[in-house]
Amino acid sequence: MDFRHSDEERAWHDTLHSFMDKEVGREYTREHDENREFPDEAYQKIADNGWLGLLIPESLGGLEANPIMYAIFCEAMAKFSLDTAACVMTSMFTAKNIVNHGTDQQKSDYLSDYLTGRRKFSVSISEPQAGSDAAAVRTRAELVDGHWVLNGNKIWCSGAHLPGAVITILARTSEDRHRGLSLILVPNDTPGLEIHKMPTIVRRSLGTTEFFMTDVRVPEGNIIGEPNRGWEYIGEHLEYERLGLAASYVGNARTALDDTIKYTKEREQFGRSLSSFQVLKHRMAENETELSAARLLVYAAADKMARGERAIKEVSMAKVFAADVAFKIAFNGMQALGGYAQLPVYDMERYFREAKHGMVGGGTNEIQRTIIAREMGL
Ligand SMILES: Cc1cc2nc3c(=O)[nH]c(=O)nc-3n(C[C@H](O)[C@H](O)[C@H](O)COP(=O)(O)OP(=O)(O)OC[C@H]3O[C@@H](n4cnc5c(N)ncnc54)[C@H](O)[C@@H]3O)c2cc1C
Repeated sequence: MDFRHSDEERAWHDTLHSFMDKEVGREYTREHDENREFPDEAYQKIADNGWLGLLIPESLGGLEANPIMYAIFCEAMAKFSLDTAACVMTSMFTAKNIVNHGTDQQKSDYLSDYLTGRRKFSVSISEPQAGSDAAAVRTRAELVDGHWVLNGNKIWCSGAHLPGAVITILARTSEDRHRGLSLILVPNDTPGLEIHKMPTIVRRSLGTTEFFMTDVRVPEGNIIGEPNRGWEYIGEHLEYERLGLAASYVGNARTALDDTIKYTKEREQFGRSLSSFQVLKHRMAENETELSAARLLVYAAADKMARGERAIKEVSMAKVFAADVAFKIAFNGMQALGGYAQLPVYDMERYFREAKHGMVGGGTNEIQRTIIAREMGL
């Protein structure tokens, strides 16, 4: 067993971190968070580098990277903000549904524009009454004259409002709780769709929306894969989503802890640096240990997926553990920076807000533990 990254993986890590430092940076990230603006320039540079195609096969113009390279990418994208990572990852793992189950027509209609940065994808599972109980979806899609006609109300859909976005909607196509759901592609400019951005305290750059569908019509060919298999497809989707999220929590927690270490070394009180007080030192040592453990869980899950195996339990373990560690690190960072932590210019308040959301988005911590227990046969 070798815990080190290969030379290729290390080079990929270094390329990405240097990109984040030089082409994205803290100020740009902070400004876009404060102004609730999508990081268009950074996103376009990522597209121009071909990185949006990480999970797309070479035959379709992508890089066909394995889940380890994908995890390294997500970790780096979150260097300054989990929101920046979400801006890139959301389209990335959602596009994979088309790769895995889409028709040739869908691949040619949607993937090439995605790779150039002109089109984005968002995924819409949640509804007001269907949160953790995601299969309680009520949005209906009925086949009428060669079109799916959708009616219903979705909530918390990140990125649905962005120019050129195509929403992958989990909708009810028959009565069976799980085997009555399908995935349908709906471009966000389809008539009958009313999208509102929500004033969330996180994902301020990506933006999260609520939308209402009144007789929204899309061609029959916009269904992904077979009718009534949406729940199965979304299960595969969530494996990539949760791996990416867990990796991003580790990436952002690394910066939050590094910022805490730097600040406590520089700040003096009682004639000594804060980092010389044992209580702070031990807290940081504990966080360093937990962060290493979280990182190992992420790469153990990625490694299993790279071997072509399902990693439902491993991905949930990585996500819940990394979310807790990221929150603890940001929480301790807020305490270590004292009053200064309240100022956006120190970035810690952003890490703190975003780490809190990590315990909810992509399935809550309680739901991850329920999945782990189920996989344990409990
Ligand atoms: C900023 C943001 C962005 C999001 N982006 C998207 C997106 O792009 N697409 C999308 O589809 N969704 C998205 N979501 C929705 C997200 O996935 C849900 O918020 C999440 O799944 C939890 O659902 P809920 O908020 O309805 O909470 P609830 O399900 O109401 O849960 C509330 C609390 O009860 C607990 N709970 C519920 N059931 C159980 C149980 N059986 N056992 C123990 N505890 C339980 C939960 O863990 C939680 O602590 C986003 C949410 C936010 C806030």
